Amino acid sequence: MTAPTLTPARRQLLHRAGSDGHSRWLAHTANTRGCTRPVRLTGSIHTVDSSSGRILDTRHTATHMPDGVLYVPCGDRRASVCPPCAETYRADTYQLIKAGLTGGKGVPTSVTGHPAVFATLTAPSFGPVHTRVVNAKTGKVRPCRIRRTITPCPHGRLLVCTQRHTDTSPALGRPICLDCYDHAAHVVWNGWAGELWRRTMISLNRALRPWAKAHGVKLRVSYGKVAEYQRRGVVHFHALIRLDTVDLDDPDAILAPPADITAETLAELVAGSVTATGFRTPDYADTGHTWPIAWGSQLDIRPVNGMTGGEITSEAVAAYLAKYATKATEPAGLPVTSRMNAQAAEHYSDADTHLGRLIAYAWQLGGCPSDYTSDEQQQDWHDTFGRLRRWTHMLGFGGHFATKSRRYSTTHKAIRAQRREWQRSGQLDWRTRHHDDVDDTTLIVCDLTLAGIGWNTTADAQLAASAAARAREHRALAKQERTTA
Ligand SMILES: [Zn+2]
Ligand SMILES: [Zn+2]
Ligand SMILES: [Zn+2]
Repeated sequence: MTAPTLTPARRQLLHRAGSDGHSRWLAHTANTRGCTRPVRLTGSIHTVDSSSGRILDTRHTATHMPDGVLYVPCGDRRASVCPPCAETYRADTYQLIKAGLTGGKGVPTSVTGHPAVFATLTAPSFGPVHTRVVNAKTGKVRPCRIRRTITPCPHGRLLVCTQRHTDTSPALGRPICLDCYDHAAHVVWNGWAGELWRRTMISLNRALRPWAKAHGVKLRVSYGKVAEYQRRGVVHFHALIRLDTVDLDDPDAILAPPADITAETLAELVAGSVTATGFRTPDYADTGHTWPIAWGSQLDIRPVNGMTGGEITSEAVAAYLAKYATKATEPAGLPVTSRMNAQAAEHYSDADTHLGRLIAYAWQLGGCPSDYTSDEQQQDWHDTFGRLRRWTHMLGFGGHFATKSRRYSTTHKAIRAQRREWQRSGQLDWRTRHHDDVDDTTLIVCDLTLAGIGWNTTADAQLAASAAARAREHRALAKQERTTA
């Protein structure tokens, strides 16, 4: 047997593992929950008596923390950026969506009985694209696009494809004829998708009025929704829509709607609002051109019955939505995740590719006309077509990826605070070791500055990742014990 060669990483690992404060370091880094690129902060943290304002304790990271810094998880929700933080976000989203369906986290458990629907709303077609459709009965993949009669498109191409694409085929979502595809309408639709959703909810609340009147109550829909890019680069929405009765004396209370309004009724009303809602964009500069904004014909609206075991369960819906909160939030294949400048837009614009054309259109259409010189004109542009340029890296969609109406459920912020509370009560938190009296009456005031991002060494990154994995196992075990107890 040959002696293992000591790579630099291995040497770092041994050095760290053999150091005096090793277990303390591990306990501290476990707070980052496996984050691959934590934020390193330096400065002081004060514990303040909130009634008197007296500082009870001050800690300087330089003297009190292992490595002299406070490690904080990056908190990025994108799995492509930081998988463990995205996982935390996914788990939080699951809790948030689930609480809206079954109660908990400050939401009454009575919501379980409220009618609810799970809806997937998509954009219309902007031109034929390669698709993969699996026959539900046979499980076989259908040919991509076949037609009985074939006439060439104006560009001389035959808009057919006999292939049975695999799930990972790069052709999926790409136009069959690039020139037949309406890239301008596509990015404009992305730009107004959020507004389309907003108007659809208004229409739905309006459709509920006759029901409310008949029962002498005020009805309201609450929702949690997640946006996702389809392969063709257009956003679509998955949403959980729940019906509540409003307490006129307490607008924050969530009451059960009249029993004869079923999830099926709600599903019909949602479908009606989705098909009825549509509008046109403002005129494009002085061309007088506008685009229609409406949903596509591919609707999937299903009743959800939490307790009674309906078509889909609350858990399944929550898991499904949570998965999308971290995945596919960047348009497929786009190499840029932040705002583009003119050079980047020019670099990625490409008349020969679908994505390149979408980028070109978003950037070009979003450019403010040079004769828009007044503040009012510029503001107006900023609020309308200007969005397309600002959100070129998102192909025109500037909305949030996970949103909810105010009363749907708890918030990500509340769930994060709860987790911190848990960490504070556990031995993981270094603060409690000194102060047993950290409670509601004390405030933690931080005066910290950024020291850097990421772990100091690869060895540290490895150790922190395995420490987080162990902490996760520990939590899962504890949870199991709680549920079986
Ligand atoms: Zn992270
Ligand atoms: Zn095809
Ligand atoms: Zn064509």
